Amino acid sequence: MESTSTSMYDRIAGVQAEIERACSRVGRSPETVTLVAVSKTHTAQEVADAISAGLHHFGENRLEEASEKIPAVADLTEQPVHWHMVGHIQGRKARYVTSGYALVHSLDSPKLAERLSRMMTERSESLDVLLEINVAGEMSKYGWQMAGWQNDAALRSNLWQDVRAILTLPGLNVRGLMTMAPIVAEAEATRPVFAALRDLRDALAMDFPSADWTELSMGMTDDYPVAIEEGATLVRIGRAIFGPRL
Ligand SMILES: *Cc1c(COP(=O)(O)O)cnc(C)c1O
Repeated sequence: MESTSTSMYDRIAGVQAEIERACSRVGRSPETVTLVAVSKTHTAQEVADAISAGLHHFGENRLEEASEKIPAVADLTEQPVHWHMVGHIQGRKARYVTSGYALVHSLDSPKLAERLSRMMTERSESLDVLLEINVAGEMSKYGWQMAGWQNDAALRSNLWQDVRAILTLPGLNVRGLMTMAPIVAEAEATRPVFAALRDLRDALAMDFPSADWTELSMGMTDDYPVAIEEGATLVRIGRAIFGPRL
């Protein structure tokens, strides 16, 4: 046990040092970046070890797995834990996400937004969400398809129309955007994807100034230093903290 938590501690310290280095390269304060440890496939005990090593934000991508892990972790620690949903939410499972989450990164359609809004309103509560954007245009990814949005008025007007509608929904607080970069051999190749998400956020913030567009959730194990250089406020890191997934 000792060696497991020691190496967990070392891996977390390594990621935190890398976050600090990326921030200092672009003159940002490390406090502007939240490390979300993606604990999918890992046990409640591993999450508890990461909490002991100083982490407070955890991300899951499957609702069923998370709904067992969240109470199991609560039984293992007195520390505050903030849970993030980062995976696709099927409409019929939307109810799982209406309590226990600090932030949903993966709001990917107007329909899901309406459904969550209804459920949150029934509970007289509200949910912080990010809009998931498919900046690279990969078919396998969820979210608004926005590849090449800078030169595509139709794409832009489609998203703008959806955003206008989502911002009127009670019970949802839009806090920013999320994206997943394609898997590439060189992290540097993801830079244009992250820059495009930031530019899209800036354009939305200009046209919808009453909403909060602070958060940019981008960057995973293989590319988070580049994402931070391009403005990430939330990095979602699994393997660099918990080791390989089986
Ligand atoms: C699994 C996952 C991550 C973490 O990926 P790693 O490469 O292990 O860092 C981040 N975001 C989402 C949406 C994920 O599903």
